[in-house]
Amino acid sequence: MSPSPKGLGGLRRWLRPYAQALIASFPPGSFQVTSVRRSRSQQLALWRNRANNPYPVAPPGSSKHELGLAWDMVGDRSRLEAAGALWKSWGGKWWPADPIHFEY
Ligand SMILES: [Zn+2]
Repeated sequence: MSPSPKGLGGLRRWLRPYAQALIASFPPGSFQVTSVRRSRSQQLALWRNRANNPYPVAPPGSSKHELGLAWDMVGDRSRLEAAGALWKSWGGKWWPADPIHFEY
């Protein structure tokens, strides 16, 4: 199941087409969007529970998720790495240590 554009609705409007184009560059179903915009309290809850999170968690107030400038998506590691490389080639930010996280 490929994520619907609605799944990226928490992103800033101008950023959405780029995220959609990135996902569309891979076979349907390659990725599942798991998190987009977070409130400060949602980020705080993640931060408090970060010991149980396999991925890095930014402190409240410093996450691009709170600004609608980041999203997380899961998928095969190799495809995430390919998507990360493509995203970076478009000027986005992506780090191997947090392969599910894509931000502007
Ligand atoms: Zn993230």
